Amino acid sequence: MKTVYSYVKPYWLPALFAFILMLTELFIELVQPLIIAKIIDDGIVVNDIEAIKNWGIVLVFLAIVALIAGIINSYFAAHVAHSFGFDLRNALFSKIQAFTMATYLKFPTSGLITRLTNDVTQVQNVLFMSLRILVRAPLSASLSLVMAFIINPKIALFLLIGAPIVVGFLYFMVKKGITYFAQVQWRLDRVNRVLQECLQAIRLVKAYMRNEYESSRFQQVANSLKLDTTRALRIMEFIMPALLLIMNLSLLAVIWFGSIEVSTGNAQVGELVAIINYAMRVTGNFSMFAFIIIAIARAKASSDRMKEVLLVDGNGLEVEKSESELKNDNLIEEIGTVRFEKVSFTYPNTELLVLSDISFEIKQGEKLAIMGETGSGKTTLLNLLPRFYEPTSGKIFVNGRNVLDWQLEELRAMIGFVPQKSLLFTGSIQENLKWGKQDAIFSEVRLAAEQAQIHETVETFPNKYDTRVGQKGVNLSGGQKQRLSIARALVRKSRILVLDDSTSALDVKTEAALWDALEEENTTMFVVTQKVRTAKTMDKILLLHDGKVEAYGTHDELLQISERYRQIVESQQEQVGEEG
Ligand code: ADP
Repeated sequence: MKTVYSYVKPYWLPALFAFILMLTELFIELVQPLIIAKIIDDGIVVNDIEAIKNWGIVLVFLAIVALIAGIINSYFAAHVAHSFGFDLRNALFSKIQAFTMATYLKFPTSGLITRLTNDVTQVQNVLFMSLRILVRAPLSASLSLVMAFIINPKIALFLLIGAPIVVGFLYFMVKKGITYFAQVQWRLDRVNRVLQECLQAIRLVKAYMRNEYESSRFQQVANSLKLDTTRALRIMEFIMPALLLIMNLSLLAVIWFGSIEVSTGNAQVGELVAIINYAMRVTGNFSMFAFIIIAIARAKASSDRMKEVLLVDGNGLEVEKSESELKNDNLIEEIGTVRFEKVSFTYPNTELLVLSDISFEIKQGEKLAIMGETGSGKTTLLNLLPRFYEPTSGKIFVNGRNVLDWQLEELRAMIGFVPQKSLLFTGSIQENLKWGKQDAIFSEVRLAAEQAQIHETVETFPNKYDTRVGQKGVNLSGGQKQRLSIARALVRKSRILVLDDSTSALDVKTEAALWDALEEENTTMFVVTQKVRTAKTMDKILLLHDGKVEAYGTHDELLQISERYRQIVESQQEQVGEEG
């Protein structure tokens, strides 16, 4: 638990203050029965009105102090718990942002979301409760017992009749309770995950009419949750009444023996009343135990999960190298030059060689088309360029410098990246386009939109560049999203532009206009494409097959040297013929 709870440290002072106030409340709670005993023995029994009045005033005064202490304690406990939650959430978020791509793959997205939302809340609640009742209930129960003994050990002894059984039950309840409720928490995560997956893929679910399948999948996990929760609660339902029964029997014994002692003059009425009062406190606090166990078990499961994220270190994080580790002097080639030297790559924790012995070079301003069937390694090759992953062997040079010797930030600033799946954020079109360059002025945004062939479309929207996209905004077609996604990369005016099959939804005319517009820019381009028509307009083509370079050269050269390329060309010509 240490890693997670170390975030309480900055708030030790208000936490200590809250703790002291809690002890104040506890102290008052413990002396109250004594004062009541005084009122009975020194006041009511001997008919001393003055004593009743004086002790009464003390009682009321203490009650007011306890009330005020309680209110201030709540205030500080809430302050500590929420500040802790805030810091922890931010720490988790920063940590996740620094994950390498390989680390991301280890955590399902839904799991990360649960950690930042529900898990933080669980631990935050337990911290709040620790400063309120979590510590107080067991303390109050045991100290009440001690007080009963101080008042009259003979009578109080009857409270211990059931002690061995109570201790046994408590031990069993804590042990099983924590295990079972941790299991319940885990089941709840599964329910969340299935729900999240289904919602994310809702179109697919509808299109494939998989509603019933998804419902049954949900029912399965929900049923497991139900069964495990029932099992966990049953333990509590069995043990809690048993415990209370034992406690109440002890209480009966106390009253019975106590009344004999009072009648024989060995004890005073007030003493007996005080002991009964303490006994009731013990019982009352016991009934909170189930609640406390559930809270602790949940927080334990949650903090364990958050610990997994917080403990990611070393190779799991993208860490900028220090100046001394970087060789800054070897910028020997023109900006925008990219060279792959015998690059091979295997994804972390897998065996398959996804890229094997890839070598090629493109000069500043050259445009490279990357072709190859699905799974041939095109996206993987692009992912190595901004160092999402590092090559397993071989070297990649950008501007003549090994990518491993670049500051990540500098390297990535050089590259405009348009991923296969266009993603837009909730916000206006302008905000989306400026996302990669916050200080871009409107004319830059507009130029990028014009080059990406989306400006005219945006002009037709109700609020033009201020039109909102995403939820409650305009609905965009796949092609419009692709063009906005390209425009976002163009705003950055990067020296290297990477387009991962990002023009698939554009019609022939629009795509041609896009390439024409980009011709004016002196940008080195990597364009993954399935279309020979697109590849032809590029300076070079890299044809991949099974992670290896099948052929590399211009369209005409490839026609000469590669049978596979000729086949692709022919199949697309047939298609064009059929379409025409
Ligand atoms: P393409 O873009 O040409 O369709 P990819 O680069 O996406 O091909 O994939 C190449 C190979 O790498 C495939 O066999 C794919 O299964 C594998 N692969 C892709 N991403 C991962 C990953 N994150 N972990 C493990 N293997 C992967």
